[in-house]
Amino acid sequence: TSNVTTTRDNTPLLPHVKNIIAIASGKGGVGKSTTASNLAVALANSGAKVGLIDADISGPSVPTMFNVEAEQPSIKQVDGKNIIIPIEQYGVKLMSIGFLTPSDSAVVWRGPMASSALKQFIADVEWGELDYLLIDLPPGTSDIHLTMVQTLPVTGAVIVTTPQKVALADATKGLTMFRQPQINVPILGVIENMAYFTPDELPDNKYYLFGKEGGKRLAEKFSVPFLGEIPIVQSIRESGDTGYPAVFKEGITKIAFSELAEAVAR
Ligand code: ADP
Repeated sequence: TSNVTTTRDNTPLLPHVKNIIAIASGKGGVGKSTTASNLAVALANSGAKVGLIDADISGPSVPTMFNVEAEQPSIKQVDGKNIIIPIEQYGVKLMSIGFLTPSDSAVVWRGPMASSALKQFIADVEWGELDYLLIDLPPGTSDIHLTMVQTLPVTGAVIVTTPQKVALADATKGLTMFRQPQINVPILGVIENMAYFTPDELPDNKYYLFGKEGGKRLAEKFSVPFLGEIPIVQSIRESGDTGYPAVFKEGITKIAFSELAEAVAR
């Protein structure tokens, strides 16, 4: 689009990145970062070259979810400019504000500073050639969202929600925002996370703790694809905390995230 930032010689930023996909949610805590992390790893497992920007500046979770909390990216000089080398883990190139600030410090930034951090993650990081660059957005609607669309030609947005009424109400706002003329990002679809729970001892039972099929109905209401559902699984939470993505585990979690990657790649 015409308002996308270009470099001094007028080439668009990140010309070697084929697809730029935003992962968004209305509410926090619905599993947006979990989804973004597992999606990134699942896409990399399928042979794609993948990068992930943690744009959740005040609550970065990517360093923990990839078990690289102690890592610090190295910096090199190119034409007198500092270029950041992304951290690579599980085949995914990563950039997060968490790599640049102590993990227990609270980042209280005004909108413009958060936006300039995102701009730096886009323009000053050596992303190289990528099939997918995923952007894990902060929840809700913010300056960051505007900065993203003004800086990059975003291919599309994936909306993560739980089936719960309050999450759906906020996801609706998110969907509407992406369709506003000044944002205008295609919605690739809706993912319903924490869709149901199945206890090990009752493998045929599904308990819809947060309500049933809310994400699916949201997708229908907005005529966008429903990309699938991810159940509540203890190992998904554990793998987030230990930094070993759930998509590596056999069984339902691997299937759910791999299918999701296939749906997004389509
Ligand atoms: P968000 O990015 O939307 O704030 P997170 O991805 O950080 O949400 O997830 C919030 C918490 O819920 C994390 O502790 C995460 O491990 C957990 N979680 C997310 N999805 C699931 C799931 N499907 N099953 C179990 N725990 C989950």
